[in-house]
Amino acid sequence: MLPTRGYAAMAARAPLQPFFFERRDVGAHDVLIKISHCGICHSDIHMTRNEWGESIYPMVPGHEIVGTVSEIGSAVKLLRVGDRAGVGCFVDSCRTCSACREGLEQYCEAGMILTYSSRDKNGAITQGGYSTQIVVDERYVLKMPTALSPAGSAPLLCAGITTYSPFRHWGVGKYHRVAVLGLGGLGHMAVKIAHALGTEVTVFSSSEAKGADAKRLGAGDFVVSTERNNLTRFRRYFDFVLDTVSAVHDYNAYVELLKTDGTMILVGAPEHPAPLEPFSLIMHRRSIAGSVIGGIRETQEMLDFCAEHQIESDVETIPIGQVNEAYERVVRGEVRFRFVIDLDSLA
Ligand code: NAP
Ligand code: ZN
Ligand code: ZN
Repeated sequence: MLPTRGYAAMAARAPLQPFFFERRDVGAHDVLIKISHCGICHSDIHMTRNEWGESIYPMVPGHEIVGTVSEIGSAVKLLRVGDRAGVGCFVDSCRTCSACREGLEQYCEAGMILTYSSRDKNGAITQGGYSTQIVVDERYVLKMPTALSPAGSAPLLCAGITTYSPFRHWGVGKYHRVAVLGLGGLGHMAVKIAHALGTEVTVFSSSEAKGADAKRLGAGDFVVSTERNNLTRFRRYFDFVLDTVSAVHDYNAYVELLKTDGTMILVGAPEHPAPLEPFSLIMHRRSIAGSVIGGIRETQEMLDFCAEHQIESDVETIPIGQVNEAYERVVRGEVRFRFVIDLDSLA
């Protein structure tokens, strides 16, 4: 077993604290990654606080993991020692169901094995990237483009793929108008990616102060969403609404902004459900859909797309000792636009 240092939540709503644990030995198909950076996703906060009800403790969060391969198993073919590698939200899946065979491991019929707070195939609790190292089967490891910085590319592994995947699935591109709700970690990646796809992007934000940033990131327009009168001029304007908001809010007001046959795509996952008004869907044959991260093949495609377009996340890098304070700032919407932990601070 490999002694590993990390930061963990020992119970729901307990602050994260230093934690020692063991990783499995490097198996024939495994790679050992020395972690340099890990992003802080709002899902880490929902999970450590058990807001979705399925958390397992102790929990080392973190699923936007970048580092360097430091050891490989005897049968590993896809990576070499010294490669820059990434690990996203899952580290295994059944590999045999139709979803896995199609490269849609995130929709595995048996359930993907999450990077943390899951049980692996041996029954051990998985632990995430707020730690010094991780052991992962090579099939679930991404090759990180060296054209991008390690810190700036870490958030691509969740925030990037979560917004890229639905855009590709629904064929979002030129001639479309997209509304992005919430300008946080996911939202700012959505703006950059949609802009690179040639799409007209409008940001709806509860934070008036984010307007200049929205335009800099590639948005054509910025709307302060707390003032409901601001929404009316966009009635039946958008082909797609991508909702990244992390807290309970009114969906119906935004459904009204879709054209006939338009689709509202939910990626934000608030703690509590919200009511839906059927008539606004019925009258213009609108759809509401959801999407979760992306498969390994598509994640690699997204990384290569971002390298080609020089797209990184806007990050604020912090030492691990500031993680609890960072969580509070994320909840208050105060990060521009992703915290990334420098894991050298744990070494
Ligand atoms: P984040 O950085 O905290 O961004 C969320 C944004 O939502 C905030 O910046 C804020 O934007 C807006 N917001 C927050 N509270 C609000 C409220 N009460 N009313 C209106 N707007 C509010 O979080 P994130 O990391 O981007 O994650 C966003 C959500 O997506 C989380 O629920 C997360 O769990 C989920 N998620 C889902 C997937 C998936 O695969 N589907 C993957 C990753 C994350 P403004 O300041 O601009 O209003
Ligand atoms: Zn995430
Ligand atoms: Zn499967």
